[in-house]
Amino acid sequence: MNYSAKALSINPSVTLSVSAKVEELKKQRKHVVSFCIGEPDFSTPEFINEQTKRALDDGFTKYSPASGILPLKQAVCEKLKKENNLNYSPENIVVTAGAKSAIFHTLFSTLNDGDEVVIPAPYWISYPEMVKLAGGKCVFAETDAKNGHKITAELVDSLITSKTKCLILNSPNNPSGAVYTLQELKEIAEVIVNRDIFVISDEVYEKFLYGDNQHFSIAALNEEIFSRTVTVNSLSKTYSMTGYRVGYLAADKMLAKTISAVLSHSIGGIAAFGQYGAVAALKEDTDYCLNSCRVYEKRRNVLLAELSKTENVFYTEPNGAFYVFADVSYYYGKSYNGRIVSGSEDFADCLLDEGVAVVPGIAFGRDSFIRLSFTVEEDEIRLGMQRFRNFLKKMRNI
Ligand code: PLP
Repeated sequence: MNYSAKALSINPSVTLSVSAKVEELKKQRKHVVSFCIGEPDFSTPEFINEQTKRALDDGFTKYSPASGILPLKQAVCEKLKKENNLNYSPENIVVTAGAKSAIFHTLFSTLNDGDEVVIPAPYWISYPEMVKLAGGKCVFAETDAKNGHKITAELVDSLITSKTKCLILNSPNNPSGAVYTLQELKEIAEVIVNRDIFVISDEVYEKFLYGDNQHFSIAALNEEIFSRTVTVNSLSKTYSMTGYRVGYLAADKMLAKTISAVLSHSIGGIAAFGQYGAVAALKEDTDYCLNSCRVYEKRRNVLLAELSKTENVFYTEPNGAFYVFADVSYYYGKSYNGRIVSGSEDFADCLLDEGVAVVPGIAFGRDSFIRLSFTVEEDEIRLGMQRFRNFLKKMRNI
């Protein structure tokens, strides 16, 4: 059988294959410090699970509307108004199976074959694959580590052609931890409006901010950018609800309606009981997000202190999200236990032999880098970095 050319054009997820290797080692009772996990290590708060269980008991186990239940759409509107200064009504909101599905369905509903999508690199693993699946063409905006891995308005402007449909913006950023300032967003918004494209603003890490950094939703800047933005968010990272698969997007009514129609023929409405759990998460005013962010900030500082003791590894301090993106290319071309380390995949593979798991940067479009996630307890971070340094010491010139 001939498979779909689009399906064959995509790469399987590197994060999943690293996780599979870690699981394999754990089964063999080997201890691994895993810096490769892209989800909070905290449990879902009890008040959310309680509401979900109540919804199950109340019989919310049947088909639900494709674009989401009204109470959740209303809760999303309230949240976006209060926290992001965005005025949407329920017809603008589409509830999706996580942010992943929000982005995929937006691309699928807007792209025609050959339309170009500007993706800042390094990027979250799934963006290029989703663009390809939707028939689009990726145009990478190559950023510089010296500029904190951020795109500039000029760079975006220089990449726009008559075929460009949209830009995917992700702040706070996975994998770099970059957070765009208000001024930077204003400049990027100006280009989007002037060149008449739209932007998908992926804000899933908005609550994970360190130091004085603040999050701004690009759509809130003015009316013109508001109408050209699809704001994407999810409860996965914020409320440790990755397995619930609840996300959402906010867009103009026509687009929201189109995406809902596509959804009605793909996954349909996501599990209603999970959506009720999400309503509780958004409505109940708890300090959960703030508290977990403070824990991550402490872990971030531990990891940065450890990295500062590690020779010839270069990184930018993350201002948001929960990752450090580190350049380890100084060690490429050296050998470890007789194996030549020629790129980030070799590096991550050999490091795993020392009981430390990281994600190779090639998955994010940067082979010189590795990504370390600090969703790991402080003592584990220290142990992992001790092993990391031992590993580097074992590397030999060839
Ligand atoms: N966007 C970014 C930048 C991510 O890092 C992730 C998950 O790792 C997602 C979206 C997907 O989130 P969700 O679990 O809500 O689908």
